[in-house]
Amino acid sequence: MKQMIYLDHAATTAVRPEVLDAMIPYFSQKYGNPSSIYDFASISKTALRTARNAVASLIGADERDVYFTGGGSEADNWAIKCCAESYSSKGRHIITSKIEHHAVLYTCQYLERCGYTVTYLTPNELGIITPQALQAAIRPDTILVSIMTANNEIGTIQPIQKLGQICKEHNILFHTDAVQALGQISLDVKQMNIDLLSGSAHKLQGPKGVGCLYIRPGISIGPLIHGGGQERHRRAGTENVPGIVGFGKAAELALTHMDEKSEKEKKLRDYFIQSVLERIPFSRLNGCPKNRLPGNVNFSFQFIDGESLLIMLDMEGICASSGSACTSGSVDPSHVLTAIGLPDEIARGSIRFTIGEENTKEEIDYVIDKLDSIISRLRSMNPVYQTFTSKSR
Ligand SMILES: *Cc1c(COP(=O)(O)O)cnc(C)c1O
Repeated sequence: MKQMIYLDHAATTAVRPEVLDAMIPYFSQKYGNPSSIYDFASISKTALRTARNAVASLIGADERDVYFTGGGSEADNWAIKCCAESYSSKGRHIITSKIEHHAVLYTCQYLERCGYTVTYLTPNELGIITPQALQAAIRPDTILVSIMTANNEIGTIQPIQKLGQICKEHNILFHTDAVQALGQISLDVKQMNIDLLSGSAHKLQGPKGVGCLYIRPGISIGPLIHGGGQERHRRAGTENVPGIVGFGKAAELALTHMDEKSEKEKKLRDYFIQSVLERIPFSRLNGCPKNRLPGNVNFSFQFIDGESLLIMLDMEGICASSGSACTSGSVDPSHVLTAIGLPDEIARGSIRFTIGEENTKEEIDYVIDKLDSIISRLRSMNPVYQTFTSKSR
């Protein structure tokens, strides 16, 4: 394989070597089932406990309030479906936003088919869900609010503490999908008024297929997965011990490296943004310049088809992403970009780069050069652009 530049860390990340090392013994040496009673199994049980502690520390929670799941999507499904079910006698209205991950959006759509009513809040043009917008949407029968901590496409970080405060004042449960934020920015469930929080290991250099749900004590929701008594009777199924050990190690490392990693990524991010906006005409940055995940860069280029741009970048060994969804052969513009008010033709010319700790300035410089030349080439073949520029001359 030729040299690859990976700028898609919001999609997934490589497992850190230390994480892999921590996991390996739990496949074929320390393979005991944590539920068994002999001493050999207690090794696995202790490993779960250590991992739970590390994940809890990353979000300021108590160890006993963290439950392991089969990923971020499962955690979102569990939080939303089971809160809806358990609190339905109080009401059947849920508030979320138009920019959530599909694990939240499609779960809410499913609940609408089950007789619940859902309000989808529109963010402002920077992608922020304002406390005023939330306040205005609350009804006497609202039981749950689910707003993501940070957006996976445009990187906008939400005013979670304030949103949580409003929910608390109205005695409404507050869930946040923190999958993109976990390990990237500091989180504290108590200080931020969070009742339920979803996380996923593979977005912070842990393994795929492991996640967590924090549930504040006092919230009585049932399990999503019924069966054995694992996870204090709240999530059945023999624990993914190696995966959970990996999640724990990744959480521990994320906590100790957070400041250093975030400083490094922010520097590259701001350099990337500034260089592109200066060098490439008809380009814009999507999302909030300030309240933004350290590694997120999202541009729209006028007169460009984002899918073509992605393919041409791929031919240069550059991995990036567009938020567009390929549904039945046609490309729909990203629901997030549409929600922040971008017209379809601009949204279709959008691309996301998500920087990780191992990326270098040399790589970013290479990407900027390639972007510049590919965009010039694509525009030179675009009759709309040709007409536009000849008119403005
Ligand atoms: C990746 C992601 C998810 C899904 O997590 P999985 O572990 O892949 O199921 C949910 N929400 C957000 C914001 C994500 O970025």
